[in-house]
Amino acid sequence: MLVSRAYKNEDTVIDLKGEKIGTGKASFVFGPCSVESYDQVATVAESLKNKGLKLLRGGAFKPRTSPYDFQGLGVDGLEILKRAANEYDLAVISEIVTPHDIEKALDYVDVIQIGARNAQNFELLKEAGRTNKPVLLKRALSGTIAEFIAAAEYVNSEGNGQIILCERGIRTYETATRNTLDISAVPILKQETHLPVMVDVTHSTGRKDIMLPCAKAALAVGADGVMAEVHPNPAAALSDAGQQMDLPTFDTFYNELASFQGKI
Ligand code: PEP
Ligand code: MN
Repeated sequence: MLVSRAYKNEDTVIDLKGEKIGTGKASFVFGPCSVESYDQVATVAESLKNKGLKLLRGGAFKPRTSPYDFQGLGVDGLEILKRAANEYDLAVISEIVTPHDIEKALDYVDVIQIGARNAQNFELLKEAGRTNKPVLLKRALSGTIAEFIAAAEYVNSEGNGQIILCERGIRTYETATRNTLDISAVPILKQETHLPVMVDVTHSTGRKDIMLPCAKAALAVGADGVMAEVHPNPAAALSDAGQQMDLPTFDTFYNELASFQGKI
């Protein structure tokens, strides 16, 4: 397989505005679950810029469990992300959910995110594989590691090898967390593929009280980065209100994680 280390024994490094993902030094992706307004996104973007961070996430097309929940602002959301990213010199990572939106999204995003619910949407994977934008691919809700690697191969098979794998927890019988963070997936994916591997501590744990130790665990087992959701006013968020960090919590989380990174 093109993504396997057996095929290419050299780490793939993805460069986004000078932030090199996959070099061993951790990269961080933060931002709200959903884009709700320019002010909301800009507030988080400013906080990233003040920390010297480069990677802003935000959902414009939201794959929600219920059709009656907020579905995202669509292209208007992508416009907001791009405006804030230009203002604060950041790269934008945003989820695209249908193949026909990929081309449109190229004008707005620096990284195409493919979410857990679409990790086996093979037409979407192939369409993302026909672009020259990096792809952040989440693990499927109940996906095995082999299926995850095969999903990445769908992207690479169309020509695009700029892929970041993102472990985001899998569904198990455990209910104490939103999903079960499969920390062992990180070193396995690092061994079996040459792709950067990130860990999303928001959707895996669903618990702000354990996000920091889980993020430390991710870095300790060799993850190339951590993703987490940050919102200026989580209680009023239109999605994932219970699990996004507010700005003071984010400051502490990031400072502790950055200093932990120096120790490993
Ligand atoms: C997200 O990152 O916005 C998201 C919906 O995550 P996941 O696809 O991992 O559930
Ligand atoms: Mn979310």
